[in-house]
Amino acid sequence: MRAQYDVAIVGSGIVGLGAALAATRRGLSVIVIDRSAEILGASVRNFGHLCFTPQSGIARTFAAASRELWLQLAVDAKLEVRRTGTFVVARHLDELEVLGDLAARRAGSQALSSGSEQPEVELLTSAEIEGRVPVAPGSTVGGAHLGLDLQVNPRDAVHTIAAHLAERGVEFLPRTAVTAVRSGRVETTRGIIHAGIVVVAVNADIDQLYPDVAERVGIRRCGLDMLRVNAGLRFPLAGPLLTGWSLLRYSAFTRFPAAGRIRERLHAQHPYLAALDLNQMYTQQPDGSLIVGDTHYRGDAIAPFQDERAAAALLDITAELFGTPRPRVLERWQGVYASGPDEYLIEQVEPGVHLAAATTGIGMTTGLGLAEHVVEFALSSATFSSPSLTQQKEFS
Ligand SMILES: Cc1cc2nc3c(=O)[nH]c(=O)nc-3n(C[C@H](O)[C@H](O)[C@H](O)COP(=O)(O)OP(=O)(O)OC[C@H]3O[C@@H](n4cnc5c(N)ncnc54)[C@H](O)[C@@H]3O)c2cc1C
Repeated sequence: MRAQYDVAIVGSGIVGLGAALAATRRGLSVIVIDRSAEILGASVRNFGHLCFTPQSGIARTFAAASRELWLQLAVDAKLEVRRTGTFVVARHLDELEVLGDLAARRAGSQALSSGSEQPEVELLTSAEIEGRVPVAPGSTVGGAHLGLDLQVNPRDAVHTIAAHLAERGVEFLPRTAVTAVRSGRVETTRGIIHAGIVVVAVNADIDQLYPDVAERVGIRRCGLDMLRVNAGLRFPLAGPLLTGWSLLRYSAFTRFPAAGRIRERLHAQHPYLAALDLNQMYTQQPDGSLIVGDTHYRGDAIAPFQDERAAAALLDITAELFGTPRPRVLERWQGVYASGPDEYLIEQVEPGVHLAAATTGIGMTTGLGLAEHVVEFALSSATFSSPSLTQQKEFS
């Protein structure tokens, strides 16, 4: 370990790794500190769904930047990034209406990916979607393919990125809790680390490291129930699959009037699923198993006790969607992320100390772009001197 780093990063999830990548690309010395012995936070517990198309506002900006970075990591880190797109199945006309509205909006908006001729939203007939995803025959009224979305294996992606960064000189300090951060210094359970810039990327644990900020901003914790199942699908899922419930979540869907009607209909028909704050969605893993999710429950603390009725509901609606027997559960887990009134927490709390978190469930999709933005801002506003930071500022 050195006496001084240009950049110290607290947290080795996708946002912390994104910050390390951004700093390393600028030739800076970097240390990443994590209290865990392995990367086991939200960044390995998710679907691996890089869901760029249904984002809007700043999330779309971060999504576009992230997409480029994921594709670059596919080359540089030999990371498996699948160009699957996302499939959205519509089982009711109001769902098709939202997809049609998004297709029209995207046809007229600035492209997510420069140079791509592909439409962002391809509307599909019932026969087309049922030919491409193994849902129960005759159960849909149509659907869409969001062709620019990507998929990664969440169990591998962050480890591959961390190994790539380590090869490029980033130092990792696991099993080391950060207890406090001040301008230029990080206090840890292994002693003090000096750094010109500190990026705090601890997700929901921001409420422990910066309780006042979390309370002021209104950040709470969101717990999610997830399953990995053997679903016995008719044929493999060609990409992540969203349903009508997903149209109530991502910001580019929710702004269309039909989304309000979907909410009313689904909540009236399925009060128990609505109370679970369901997002019925799926990704298939390389071994053929299916990640199934998810429920959402919020609080200042998240109890670890997962109600089996929620899992049973997820299995029942999965069997119904695919027209299969109830799937066999291979694994169950709980994930937790920071949940706030806005989609991000981006704040410089002291000179050179920057907080970065996705405060809704889009951190895998947008976290690399968020981190790039925060590091860029940190460098442009740095007021202290460090040999490489000074050099970086001179060249920028
Ligand atoms: C079940 C689930 C499904 C999801 N699905 C998707 C999806 O498909 N697509 C998508 O875009 N997003 C998804 N998300 C959201 C996404 O996974 C998160 O937004 C993202 O992973 C957050 O990354 P992070 O780096 O901020 O946090 P994390 O990955 O949680 O990493 C934070 C790290 O900080 C460390 N840490 C905390 N406190 C300290 C401390 N004091 N000292 C040292 N280290 C500390 C932790 O040990 C941890 O390793 C999902 C989330 C969950 C939970």
